[in-house]
Amino acid sequence: MADRRAVLRRAALFAAGAGVGAVAFAEAAGVADRNLPVRGGAAGATVASREAHPGRGQLLVTWAVDTEQPVVALTFDDGPRPEWTDTVLDTLHRLGVPATFFMVGRRVRKYAHVLDGRMARHEAANHTWDHRDLARADADEAYDDLLRAHTAIADVTGQEPALLRPPYGHVGGGAVLAATRLDYRVVLWSLQMLESEFPGDPAGHARHIVAQTTPGAILLAHDIGDPDRLVAIEGLPDMVAGLRARGFEFVTVSQLMAADTVVV
Ligand SMILES: [Zn+2]
Repeated sequence: MADRRAVLRRAALFAAGAGVGAVAFAEAAGVADRNLPVRGGAAGATVASREAHPGRGQLLVTWAVDTEQPVVALTFDDGPRPEWTDTVLDTLHRLGVPATFFMVGRRVRKYAHVLDGRMARHEAANHTWDHRDLARADADEAYDDLLRAHTAIADVTGQEPALLRPPYGHVGGGAVLAATRLDYRVVLWSLQMLESEFPGDPAGHARHIVAQTTPGAILLAHDIGDPDRLVAIEGLPDMVAGLRARGFEFVTVSQLMAADTVVV
């Protein structure tokens, strides 16, 4: 019997032909059993109007993983940005904490110097070229966008991204097909920073996040944005110390997925 939590946390998304937005959810366990093909087959014209590359023909979306190990993945979206990303990378380096950065390709090109030689312990992941909502793009536009960002991230960090976080967490439309064609796994989050509820109180905010974190959680933070987001960045040392005091180990998202007790 399928683990209910796993089913709630993860669903396999199927692109049902080229109809943008034509997406159905299915239980991960059932998907593995049925091994459903993309409609039209691997070379089917429904996959895309140009040269077909359906990837796995399915798309896994992960919010968190099912594990009893005290592991947690810290993620930062939207960067890089000078100063903010510098601070985050310096803090993580000092504390020996790996994180996963869902980066905007355009900013990776522009601020490549911020990342230079500093991503070795971290995972580089795709957050589109320009933070456009790809759920509203058609399949080819979304593919071009993700590939452009992918290439920029790979060039600058030396890592081939395997994970995609669509802007605003919008999973649908062209984003689904494009992610499938590029063999991406989509990663959302199970707990996000609540900076605006703790103005001027990095320690209080950190305590809140520490208290809310559960094994297998994916935490969402940002290394760019409104100034109130600095609350989370300033409180990062407290957050790390608090989670470590609870026995948590920090891992990248890909490492977290490897700790999943549900085999996909
Ligand atoms: Zn974003």
